[in-house]
Amino acid sequence: MKERLKPLFLQKQEALLRRLPKIHKLYPKIERDYKKSLAGYNGEKSIDYFLSYLKEEYLIFHNVRLLDRKHYFQMDTLIITPSFACILEVKNIAGSIYINEETGQMIRTLDGKEEGFLSPLIQVRRQQEHFSLWLKEQKIPNIPCIGFVVLSNPSTILKSSNSLILQAARIPSKFLHLENKYKEIKLKKQSINRLSARITDSHTENDVSIIEHYQLLKSEIITGVQCPFCETIPLMKTFGFWACQKCGQKSKNAHTKALTDYKLLFSERISNREVRSFLHIKSSSSAKRVLQKLHYPFTGNTKDRIYYIKSNQSEK
Ligand SMILES: [Zn+2]
Repeated sequence: MKERLKPLFLQKQEALLRRLPKIHKLYPKIERDYKKSLAGYNGEKSIDYFLSYLKEEYLIFHNVRLLDRKHYFQMDTLIITPSFACILEVKNIAGSIYINEETGQMIRTLDGKEEGFLSPLIQVRRQQEHFSLWLKEQKIPNIPCIGFVVLSNPSTILKSSNSLILQAARIPSKFLHLENKYKEIKLKKQSINRLSARITDSHTENDVSIIEHYQLLKSEIITGVQCPFCETIPLMKTFGFWACQKCGQKSKNAHTKALTDYKLLFSERISNREVRSFLHIKSSSSAKRVLQKLHYPFTGNTKDRIYYIKSNQSEK
């Protein structure tokens, strides 16, 4: 029902790494954070194969973020069946892990180094509580809501066994077990459709400013169009083409990606003047032609027109 797209924050991290000087003091930290986000996303993607074994009538939602009164909560994977709801918290972890139920900690050991994290069991339990409350607010009859932690990396060694933590390959058999346990039909086809629409409509993307998140200055971001072949920034526009001085290649549409970066880093709203300064275009009429060809929606009169950079949600 809701496709798994590359999370917005991961897209923002990628845009930032393209446009922050490698010598910036925060570059290594941002790169580390990015690798973590990417591993998480790859882990989530890798469980999709096992989800394909589930019954076709089940509804699967990826990365849904809902509001339960005051608090937002996000679920990696939510599965709605006629008899129960199931939340999966996916973890892509290298090394071996030990979960201490008493302290609520997960200890990961990798290359002889120990590191502590919040137990994913606590995370999934919280999501379960939030989602149950959310269902109640939506006046949806009490359906059992179950949560599991799924290990997407087959080489993760789990040092404390717990029936709520399983390897991704065990998802299909776990569902057979749940289907036997929860047989009563709680949601008829019509209610399922209504619930599904409610979930999709209520989802709100977590659109935090990455510049604020890392406390960066706008002036620290590298402006200009990037060469799609050798990654050089900036390219110069000559005779309708973006020409790369370094590798000699030419591109017609390299500015589209630069504008997507602008949207990811700053705002979807952009003026002619901002386009000129970000893309390194000299004349306002040339910037106007570029914007017109992109068919971005806009508001305002010719002089103070604001364009809205269209989203590029096709990235997976
Ligand atoms: Zn180049």
